[in-house]
Amino acid sequence: MKKILLALFFCLFNLSIIQGRTFYANGNKLEKKVALTFDDGPGKATKKILEILKEKEVKATFFMLGVSVVDNPALAKMVLDAGHEIANHTYGHINFYSYKNEDKNLKMEREILKAESVIKNILGIKTFLVRFAHGYAKQDSIQVASKWGYYVINWSFGTDWQSMPANEMYLKYKNAISNGAIFLMHDLSKNEKVISFLGDFIDDIKNKGYEIVTVTQLLDIKI
Ligand SMILES: [Zn+2]
Repeated sequence: MKKILLALFFCLFNLSIIQGRTFYANGNKLEKKVALTFDDGPGKATKKILEILKEKEVKATFFMLGVSVVDNPALAKMVLDAGHEIANHTYGHINFYSYKNEDKNLKMEREILKAESVIKNILGIKTFLVRFAHGYAKQDSIQVASKWGYYVINWSFGTDWQSMPANEMYLKYKNAISNGAIFLMHDLSKNEKVISFLGDFIDDIKNKGYEIVTVTQLLDIKI
């Protein structure tokens, strides 16, 4: 019995590390707030997305890839200058679900820090939110990230990489509006589907009485 209790304790303890202060996939479910996040850019859709966000007076969080920032430094500056939140999506989008080499932890650390360094050099800011490629959020990645003071951020809903008509995709996003939602979309490719409904989607969120905030505001993270 004692052993079972002990095992349960460690299980809960580990769970609290995973689900505690350093990993989030949504905000407070009691508050009518949501966050919009854009991954993999800056890229082909970034300008259009910035225009829509400006028109709708909304701030979003951009999880930038280090390599995309190197390729598109002017676009990255446009995002920052428009007042949006800049976050870290690692340097090269390595899929750690399938990464089997022994240096996995070191590789994860390097991927975060390389992106951090590029963003620091080009934009002059320090990132503290990280999202791994494909939402890899396990105990190892969360521990590596927290070692460097990072929060690992996933999402509560996203579907823009899947093949479906734009109106169907729009409805799926619309139906996922809920307290504390973190929406995932992408801005590296043209992403014409998201661009076609983003303005209407933002209106829907507002019309339902929700406030759109950055991830840091949604999670009430004190820097
Ligand atoms: Zn990505």
